[in-house]
Amino acid sequence: MAQLSDDAFAFGGELMRVEEALALVGERLPVVAGVETVPLWQADGRVLAEDVRALISLPPFDNSAVDGYAARTQDLAAEGATRLPVRGRVAAGHATADLAAGCAARVFTGAPVPPGTDIVFMQEDVTLEGDAVLLPPGLKKGANLRRAGEDVAAGAIVLPAGRRLRPQDVALAAAVGCADLPVRERLRVGLFSTGDELREPGEPLGPAQIYDSNRALLAALLGRMGVEVNDLGRLPDTRVAVEGALRSAAGSHDLLVTSGGVSTGEEDHVRAAVEAAGSLVFWRLAIKPGRPVALGVVGGTPLVGLPGNPVAVFVTGAHVLRPLVARLRGETLEPLPAFPVRCSFSYKKKSGRREYVRVSLRREPDGSLLALKHAQDGAGVLSSLTETTGLVELAEDRLGVQDGNIAPFIPYGLLW
Ligand code: AMP
Ligand code: MG
Repeated sequence: MAQLSDDAFAFGGELMRVEEALALVGERLPVVAGVETVPLWQADGRVLAEDVRALISLPPFDNSAVDGYAARTQDLAAEGATRLPVRGRVAAGHATADLAAGCAARVFTGAPVPPGTDIVFMQEDVTLEGDAVLLPPGLKKGANLRRAGEDVAAGAIVLPAGRRLRPQDVALAAAVGCADLPVRERLRVGLFSTGDELREPGEPLGPAQIYDSNRALLAALLGRMGVEVNDLGRLPDTRVAVEGALRSAAGSHDLLVTSGGVSTGEEDHVRAAVEAAGSLVFWRLAIKPGRPVALGVVGGTPLVGLPGNPVAVFVTGAHVLRPLVARLRGETLEPLPAFPVRCSFSYKKKSGRREYVRVSLRREPDGSLLALKHAQDGAGVLSSLTETTGLVELAEDRLGVQDGNIAPFIPYGLLW
């Protein structure tokens, strides 16, 4: 496990823009995950550690895209149909033989076509006449033929280092002959909640107590990111307890994640604990919901202190924690696709701050998508997340939206 110096983020700051914070993450934090080789079948969701090159061309040989008849265009009549004797039959998985001039070969999908043939007629389009076939006019050279290397050339990079592998990536690696792949080791993430008010679901609830939902949320989100989650439980609201817990967890994890206790109240101890045990980088982000977010290093281990309100945890989980995890494991994150939708609400916001609005979508008769804002937009209202489809993103320079304006929408399903 790479040890970071505790002053890797040696400066503080006022309200910081999300991109600035993420740039800082990229500059100051190294990739800490080691490299291991895994069988292809275990590679889905893992981060590629090296470029993957094709061991062969794809397809490896010229082959037919259909069940039909292969011929040479030079044997076809200039006008009208052509009658050619059928010689030879090639099924998928079987080698082809040479084809005599002026003849056609029966071929099946995926079968190699005889050398020199440059067109394949679909069986549905031809007429069989004894041992000959009548080929219709009008088909172009190369039709229904898949040329060797048209998908991938041998030696080409098919998957770049940093790619988090998806099923289609695994399929391509298989198709070019890779039995196993070099991937980043799973990050080991230690997860805490903070707050005297928290109890475990299933326990009886005393006065002034609530159930801990952030740890369940974060464990699920981290699970979707494909990291190994170590549940370190709930911490009471004392600096000593928080500091002690962070210090003792630091050496054995790649990342520590906490929620709650990062605001400026006297009962918010995460910030002070991080400052005492290591160093703190930023704690007020220009993002809503979510403003208080701490990034620090304790005992050489990076730490992210997320806010306490569940919706703020969700939003900063997507826009801060997710990129941080990506950085630590050398993953290239593609920008989140945001789809234009029409807002059916008005919303005012401050300039200089990025804001996210929870919305449901409705399809209009003209096919366009209308975004409907949830009635409750408090950062503590969990049902506003379960009853909506995604987030409308209002960039820093916007002052809000007017009813009918177009704004970018990110479905929840794309966040992790
Ligand atoms: P804090 O930032 O610690 O002041 O917390 C802000 C709000 O989030 C408070 O209402 C807390 O009770 C609530 N909160 C903090 N942690 C959790 C948690 N783990 N689960 C549910 N709510 C929480
Ligand atoms: Mg608290």
